[in-house]
Amino acid sequence: MNCRVCNSTRLEPAIDLGHQPWCNHFLKKEEVGKEPFYPLRVLFCHQCATAQLDHTVAKEIMFGDHTYLSGVTKSLGEHFKTIAREVDDRFFKNTPGKSVLDIGSNDGTQLKHFQALGYEALGVESSKTTARIALDAGVPTLNDFFNLDVARRLDRKFHVINAAGVFFHLEELHSVTDGIREALREDGVFVVQFLYMKRIVDNLAFDQIYHEHLLYYNLKTIETLLNRHGLALFDAYLSPIHGGSMIGFITHQSKGVAPSARLQKLREQEEAEKSNDLATYLDFAQRILQMKQENLTYLDDAKKRGKRIYGMGAPVKGNTLLNYFGIGRKYLDCLVEKNELRRGLFSPGQHLEVLIEKELTQLPDIYYVLAWNFKKEILANNQELIRNGVEFYFPVDPTEITQ
Ligand SMILES: [Zn+2]
Repeated sequence: MNCRVCNSTRLEPAIDLGHQPWCNHFLKKEEVGKEPFYPLRVLFCHQCATAQLDHTVAKEIMFGDHTYLSGVTKSLGEHFKTIAREVDDRFFKNTPGKSVLDIGSNDGTQLKHFQALGYEALGVESSKTTARIALDAGVPTLNDFFNLDVARRLDRKFHVINAAGVFFHLEELHSVTDGIREALREDGVFVVQFLYMKRIVDNLAFDQIYHEHLLYYNLKTIETLLNRHGLALFDAYLSPIHGGSMIGFITHQSKGVAPSARLQKLREQEEAEKSNDLATYLDFAQRILQMKQENLTYLDDAKKRGKRIYGMGAPVKGNTLLNYFGIGRKYLDCLVEKNELRRGLFSPGQHLEVLIEKELTQLPDIYYVLAWNFKKEILANNQELIRNGVEFYFPVDPTEITQ
């Protein structure tokens, strides 16, 4: 295969998480055991240093009819509001006729905040169901996969283009990036949000690796991509959203905008900590393997002592962890979740049934916490269980979680 960013063939396997099913689809009873498995492996490009998956699950399977609604999560709603305000304050506060294009606009949550600030909004969303929800809520939305063809058909230019949490999914990476350049006004700003690979490595958050995330950018690598398409990053900062996202501000390269001081500082950190070196990734892979051994030792011992263990939470990323560690019904009786939409479904790969927290008839001795990145909140919210002797085990437990 060729590098998704620079087309080089000098790719080397760095992190191999085995064969895994698509982790976002919790199974109905009749689907259990029928889910296809695909390789889940991160390659490192010796030419441009981009970390990327080698196997692509077709975008039509992953995003054709997904049911993830950004409007449902309250903290995300707040985040979207802050982003809209920030972009408006910084760049287009007093601009007449301002406009925004949101790529992967989901249920229109982000665009509603821009509309409230006087923007003419357009969303492009691949999921039919989700696009319909946005339309019904009064957010103009095109049901399609955004790319250069779509940008040409739109034949419009926008002050703001936003892409939150979609830019690393892209199978049609180059066509999408060209489409963004095409649809961005000369004085426009493209706002991108992406999982930051350096944070994933720092936090040992290998469960952020799954098939939907085809690319794992650092600043250096996303800048390589943008520059190839005539775009340039001029500012960036880290946000705690999704456990460590980078928010970047981009414009046309031809404008020659100088990089901000904080962007320079982040670039220097990557350099100093060798974030774009193969050795860093190989070391990370080693740490993941070590965690697997520690987890299995702990669980084997707990089972020997006759402990009843439930998984806490059924986050999508939890499936990467369960499948890579090989933690199934031998260890966990079930996964316990608050989200009632997952009631009675089974986790892909390990086939653990999802039960709803308030409907439990029996408590476990140990909660194996899949949403480990919320350790502080989880311990704080479960003081009573802890006093009653329920143990909470965190499968990934970095000394400090940086967000
Ligand atoms: Zn490359």
